[in-house]
Amino acid sequence: MGRKVLVLAETRDGVLRNVSFEALSAAQKIAEGGEIAAAVFGQGISGVASQLAQYGANQVYLVEDENLKQYTPDAFTQATVQILAKVEPDVILLGHTAIGKDLAPRVAAKLGLGLISDATELALDGGEIIFTRPIYSGKAFQKKKIIDGKVFATIRPNNIALVEADPSRQAEEIAFPVEIKDLRTIVKEVARKAVGGVDLSEAKIVISGGRGVKSKEGFAPLQELADLLGGAVGASRGACDAEYCDYSLQIGQTGKVVTPDLYIACGISGAIQHLAGMSSSKVIVAINKDPEAPIFSVADYGIVGDLFEVVPMLTEELKHI
Ligand code: FAD
Repeated sequence: MGRKVLVLAETRDGVLRNVSFEALSAAQKIAEGGEIAAAVFGQGISGVASQLAQYGANQVYLVEDENLKQYTPDAFTQATVQILAKVEPDVILLGHTAIGKDLAPRVAAKLGLGLISDATELALDGGEIIFTRPIYSGKAFQKKKIIDGKVFATIRPNNIALVEADPSRQAEEIAFPVEIKDLRTIVKEVARKAVGGVDLSEAKIVISGGRGVKSKEGFAPLQELADLLGGAVGASRGACDAEYCDYSLQIGQTGKVVTPDLYIACGISGAIQHLAGMSSSKVIVAINKDPEAPIFSVADYGIVGDLFEVVPMLTEELKHI
């Protein structure tokens, strides 16, 4: 008979985040022939429905309201509760993003649903869904299943393999008006930092700098390599604390968690709190002057050397590929 899966798709500036397609790919794995629906919140968002269909959504609920233009906990919680009452899914999936991390526990607590946060894998075992999630800052993995009832799960970006998009697939588009009232928070203005470039949490390649980068200017060769490879620049907390870069670049236990295909750590010692944010990267390259640096214990490739020599050499070499 299958199960009904609802994906709460996330947009940024009207563009769907990649993790929404990953959630739909996971939904295809666990639906077992059941229905897959997606819901998008915002205003002027109807253009995204066809993309959600390509990744497997049978129905796309367009939840348009001026209070949903920007994320606020109470407006999104109210809208989610109403869409869940309509769709009645067995499983609700969304990205483990800043929004997902805030929204999922709120709604789960309000409705008394189970919550699995930061899932890196979903699999079926005898008809039950087994969710894998990292614990102890990524040192171990826990497998969880829901014994009874509905479940909310947030999906760590860049972990679930994407299904191939099928441009011929179409979904039923359903306008779903919601009633949002008694708001305690409203967004008056969004002030953005001029970070630009590739989104760090979804980047396929991350070039990260630590205290070994030594100054703001020291990040320039890392940025050049990232630009060449279409990647993003990240940092250790050591580099952020030393004011070499903005805290929005911090990776680790108290920063962002990234899972790129390639992570190049430059002048980063590899403290456990940093590893918590990057150790699940698919390929890790460490560049460090100190052969004893702990980062080498998690690296697939290690280069013992001065990053100011190695990084420009790497960039130069890659320019010719
Ligand atoms: P360092 O440890 O000083 O390492 C610098 C490295 O650069 C050294 O290994 C050195 O050999 C190398 N180096 C120097 N010059 C060069 C050169 N020219 N070429 C090549 N290599 C060179 N840290 C995080 O990163 N993220 C977090 O989220 C985080 N959260 C934390 C939470 C808590 C509660 C606590 C207590 C700490 C947290 N930390 C976090 C801090 C963490 O413990 C480390 O202090 C920090 O990661 C160190 O940053 P670093 O590796 O850049 O600096």
